[in-house]
Amino acid sequence: MEKGFNPFAMAQAQFDRVAEMLGLEPGVREFLRWPQREYHFTIPVRMDDGSVKVFRGFRVQHSDVRGPCKGGIRFHPHETADTVKALATWMTWKCSVVDIPLGGGKGGVICDPHELSQLEQERICRGWVRQVWKNVGPVQDVPAPDVMTSGQHMIWMLDEFETLSGGKYPGFITGKPVGVGGSLGRTEATGYGVIYTVREALKRKGIDIKTTTMAVQGFGNVAQYAVDLFTRYGGKVVCVSCWDQKDQVSYTYRKMDGIDLKFLMGITDKFGTVDAGKAIAAGYEKLPGDAWIETEADILVPAALENQINGESAKKIHPRVKILAEGANGPTTPDADEVIKQRGIYLIPDFLCNAGGVTCSYFEQVQNNMNYYWEKDEVLSKLDTKMTNAFHAVADMAEKHNAYMRDAAYMIAIERVAKAAQLRGLV
Ligand code: NAD
Repeated sequence: MEKGFNPFAMAQAQFDRVAEMLGLEPGVREFLRWPQREYHFTIPVRMDDGSVKVFRGFRVQHSDVRGPCKGGIRFHPHETADTVKALATWMTWKCSVVDIPLGGGKGGVICDPHELSQLEQERICRGWVRQVWKNVGPVQDVPAPDVMTSGQHMIWMLDEFETLSGGKYPGFITGKPVGVGGSLGRTEATGYGVIYTVREALKRKGIDIKTTTMAVQGFGNVAQYAVDLFTRYGGKVVCVSCWDQKDQVSYTYRKMDGIDLKFLMGITDKFGTVDAGKAIAAGYEKLPGDAWIETEADILVPAALENQINGESAKKIHPRVKILAEGANGPTTPDADEVIKQRGIYLIPDFLCNAGGVTCSYFEQVQNNMNYYWEKDEVLSKLDTKMTNAFHAVADMAEKHNAYMRDAAYMIAIERVAKAAQLRGLV
């Protein structure tokens, strides 16, 4: 993270801007610009060598006025309370914009899983739950995996929670593996959700998806499923970029007559690095990591990291680009937003575009609470409906107020939470 950059200050500044546009009352603003509750705690862990190490853990509940808080738990050596607070705030807006009955939360532990054994990680997970189990749960706050946590971590946490609570509560946590309470379709959900919104944006613009091309940054979970569905719809993906573990730089692999997803996945190793030799032999161009941004395409999908399109690089976006769909969280800086606005590129903002993941996590919780599990087609068709409705609500708002799509999404999200707080009589 950049020195001096405070993500929570940024989350509050974004909120303040839209609160002003909406003319929210001062009491409502003050209530929504801070987390409702924060837990900071220590987790003492017996390490494999017999020593005791003390880790710092967090859970932040930004808002539960629309339903139980929802948000992941990160394991990261540079985790900070302010990062967790910002992410919890953004979760509130994300759940609200797709209109699922959940609030915003986020958690974390300062640790580096690369340096911890599986048993040590399990003890951290169980220790985290022991500290907050009375304040989280299916009707209070529902965690999920995030950076460097997985379905395995979720199951350890669930097991500890159920041991302490004395019952079976699979809806306590989402992102569980299928077979132990997980939902079919979760793996596809974020990438497919991105393409549902792209499909609807193209419809609004009167463009046939079969005539369009897409350039993608990233070749991980979100990117691969976005490429998969876009190709099934008849579109052509002309490049993907990925991190090269050996060279420690990223490369763009481009094929203007269309990449072959199965082939590229077949030559990608467990670190996510594409075998450059095999790609070149198959007719792919190997270009610098940022070449995806300049590639001639109708749609750009950043689906790798935050902070990838800035004021300078936004100027390099190819004139053909009509839609920028933010698969990643925070890929575009505020400077880039200005360029994108000026150039009239249609933006699908991150907390709408990549909300397929949390929406499917919500479906997982619903299935857990019913103790009845849906077929994959049912999950994906419900996901499509949610994403499509959310997209058009934001697009209508943007048209009505002649607003930038990011602002329109914030307006809808914040207005819904403010209204719920007012209806409850809290503010
Ligand atoms: P992932 O780890 O599966 O994939 C990340 C990809 O980015 C990899 O292919 C990696 O090679 C590539 N990459 C890393 N650095 C790069 C660089 N400098 N240039 C080009 N490519 C680079 O992660 P993911 O789950 O696909 O998540 C991608 C983004 O989407 C993140 O911002 C994440 O927060 C966001 N997101 C993910 C989900 C989800 O359900 N997975 C949900 C919402 C948002």
